[in-house]
Amino acid sequence: MKYKSTRSKTPALSSSEAIIRGIAADGGLYVPMEIPMIDRSLEDLSYMSYKDLAYYIMSKYLTDFDEEELRACIAAAYNEKFDTPLIAPLVEKAGVHFLELYHGPTLAFKDMALSILPQLLKTSMAMQNIDQQVVILTATSGDTGKAALEGFADVEGTKILVFFPQNGVSRIQKLQMLTQEGVNTFVAAIEGNFDDAQNAVKSIFNDKQLVEELSKKGYILSSANSINIGRLIPQIVYYFYGYLTLLREGKITQGQEINVVVPTGNFGNILAAYYAKKMGLPIGKLLCASNENNVLYDFIHTGTYDRQRDLRLTSSPSMDILISSNLERLLYEISGQDDVLVNQLMQKLSTEGIYEITNSMKEKLMDFYGDYSSEAEVFEAIKQLYQDENYIIDTHTAVAYSVYQKYRKKTGDATPTIIASTASPFKFGKDVSRAIGLDIADLDDFDILEKLAAAAKVKLPNSVSELKTKPILHHSLAQKHEIKAVVEGFLGGK
Ligand SMILES: *Cc1c(COP(=O)(O)O)cnc(C)c1O
Repeated sequence: MKYKSTRSKTPALSSSEAIIRGIAADGGLYVPMEIPMIDRSLEDLSYMSYKDLAYYIMSKYLTDFDEEELRACIAAAYNEKFDTPLIAPLVEKAGVHFLELYHGPTLAFKDMALSILPQLLKTSMAMQNIDQQVVILTATSGDTGKAALEGFADVEGTKILVFFPQNGVSRIQKLQMLTQEGVNTFVAAIEGNFDDAQNAVKSIFNDKQLVEELSKKGYILSSANSINIGRLIPQIVYYFYGYLTLLREGKITQGQEINVVVPTGNFGNILAAYYAKKMGLPIGKLLCASNENNVLYDFIHTGTYDRQRDLRLTSSPSMDILISSNLERLLYEISGQDDVLVNQLMQKLSTEGIYEITNSMKEKLMDFYGDYSSEAEVFEAIKQLYQDENYIIDTHTAVAYSVYQKYRKKTGDATPTIIASTASPFKFGKDVSRAIGLDIADLDDFDILEKLAAAAKVKLPNSVSELKTKPILHHSLAQKHEIKAVVEGFLGGK
């Protein structure tokens, strides 16, 4: 399996090379030359553990890893850091299946990929005989940052710098990052929103002079953002796992179609579901659920992507995004792998803030259904599910659940459905508590979470309760234009 850029006919790379580089020199994203098909029956696969399934799926993409290497990566990632050996349990509530992707160390689905990426990267470096230090530079709207820090902390041969928008993450998210341990970690708040932070990080990757300068010092830059193909591939696994769980439990028959609903921001998670479908997993509709930042909803309905609008800060901050980077990989697929066209569209997006896809591409968007939820709908969805089922979902998952309910009402489509449940409710405890009607006036963040845990009749996860007493280790606040100096500063004293 070889990889190329979405934007030009660059030489084909092996998976380890693509993982090391993160983003292509032309600004494009690495994509597999073709999407591999599964070659075993779904029933066969349904008896596999999460780890064995992960090996089966990932080995189709990471063909330059030998079995021992890939299995070692998987074993180091999906271990007791997860609070259940199932890794991604499926829970049926109110007639729909919640695929709980938040049982990892940072309580959000980013752990599914970011616990394995450092392992893949370390192995790739060894495979390519590179003895430079990998510097992970990442912009986060909240969850990526912590999950990346957790994955990379004290991993030999790596350093990690994380930038987050000062006012775009929850207090718990902020504390999770600012208390991060590990000598190779650096965290800074950026004045501005997520797109500002992401653009600042991108500008560093595109700064050839800086990249060269760092290379002389023995550093190579890479990204832990969902643009790294080494993050996307592990995400395909849990869509198979969700389907196979339904099959194993007799809730569907082999080959029966399911729908999938994904609360979407950067388009990585739903793209993984699309790849799973292309690999042969019987998925009917892919429901792309947005919050009030409904760029993708407009795009799916009109074929025009228009980022020219104000970013809204919502209760689902990890989806407060105007440029969904991974959409570029979908454009590549639905254009028939037309890198020239994708390059044009991406240039238009960067210069004019808007582009329109061709009619034949629009037809291929039929696999997707797009909708969005207002803040009021999100709160209502959380409340309703709690009242009916005593089951608590976070604000991001609630965006998806609300979109699902509206879809079902509108179309009558009763296809069995999996909702990607992307964060623990305790990560966004304040809004969740308000939604279910808890009186939280005058309570501090941690007391709120205790109260929420009591209402849900579950124990507050350790990784949250310990934040209360952990010391703050990172204190930097930077402006967008200062990011280059900050990076040089951290790396300067090697
Ligand atoms: C990142 C994130 C999302 C959005 O996922 P994308 O892959 O960026 O579309 C949704 N929910 C939560 C909790 C997240 O952390």
